[in-house]
Amino acid sequence: MDTGTVPPGSAAAELAGILDSPEIGRLIAELDETRWTGRPGYPLRAMVGMALAKSLYSIPTWTRTVALVREHAALREAIGGSGEPPSHWACYRFATKLRTYSDLLDACIARVLDRLHRENPEMGRDLAIDGSDLPAYANGQRFVSKGGRERERFSDPDASWGHRSAVSTRKGGGYYGYKVHAAVCASSGLPLAWTVETASATETNFALPLIDTVRARGFAVRTAIMDKGYDNGPIHDGCMERDVAPVTALRETGRVKAGENKPPTCEHGEWTFAGADYKRKATKWRCPTGECKPASRWVKADRLHPLIPRESERSRRLYRSRGAVEREFGRLKHEWALLPLRVRGIERVRLHADLTILAKLGCALAKARDVPLAA
Ligand SMILES: [Zn+2]
Repeated sequence: MDTGTVPPGSAAAELAGILDSPEIGRLIAELDETRWTGRPGYPLRAMVGMALAKSLYSIPTWTRTVALVREHAALREAIGGSGEPPSHWACYRFATKLRTYSDLLDACIARVLDRLHRENPEMGRDLAIDGSDLPAYANGQRFVSKGGRERERFSDPDASWGHRSAVSTRKGGGYYGYKVHAAVCASSGLPLAWTVETASATETNFALPLIDTVRARGFAVRTAIMDKGYDNGPIHDGCMERDVAPVTALRETGRVKAGENKPPTCEHGEWTFAGADYKRKATKWRCPTGECKPASRWVKADRLHPLIPRESERSRRLYRSRGAVEREFGRLKHEWALLPLRVRGIERVRLHADLTILAKLGCALAKARDVPLAA
């Protein structure tokens, strides 16, 4: 499914379509019921419209979103309301309200995902999980000068120093800020669960909670595909308890160096994989010539002997699809204005990520509705 950038000509129509969808409409109605006490004149639909327009047009700030909407009649019309678009102060107040009612926003995201799931029943079967850096809108120095006073401007008390790995365009290294952890559908590339945490938080702590969120949202997760940073016993066993087969690159530990991850062998050679039993949580291996008695045996699944053996073509194919999560981080950052951050504090950064991803999912839903399902 192509869910890339929005062609400029159709963005206003697309925005109107998202705002008119029942999934977003219910969020607007529920927020209305909380008796939004903002200044009169800005209906909730217009406020939600401003939030979505910000991501659809990749605009980092409210001020520039307001300026864009003011200049474009088609956008003003899509958002509704009469004449002037909401002021950037109204947008700030609305953002505060959304943080207060984050449960309503969560429910809206779940509705949009549920609808996408019905369009594509295979969605969420294979999850690619990873974390990615979000540098803070702040200067990482605590003090204004060496031995000087503590910094007040350009500081973000929730941000911290973390590490990021190299990508094609820059070296890896330390950075100051946050990390977004996400579980992405490996086939459609759409994010199904995510969380923003301070950069220094250990990313492996979030893999199992992300899987739980995806499952709670109704997806039948079969595999979780992760890089070798996630290759540890607790994540392996936690996946298996959830009936999810982990697919990870092998982390070089002492037991791996000792060859404990290798298939069983006998005088006839290395045993061959003969299937996995998901109920038994074990893999079956066979003597290559069948001369041994017994000629096959079960190996209990663990990190070194996963249910989908690393030697198998299926494991290799699934692992290649892990790129889905990295590509999605790239699109969210560069095409949907997840970066640069222009807010400080983890709750504001979380809201920004939620709205960015909701806009993207809303567009995917609008596209899915436009394309008639193959009979
Ligand atoms: Zn043998």
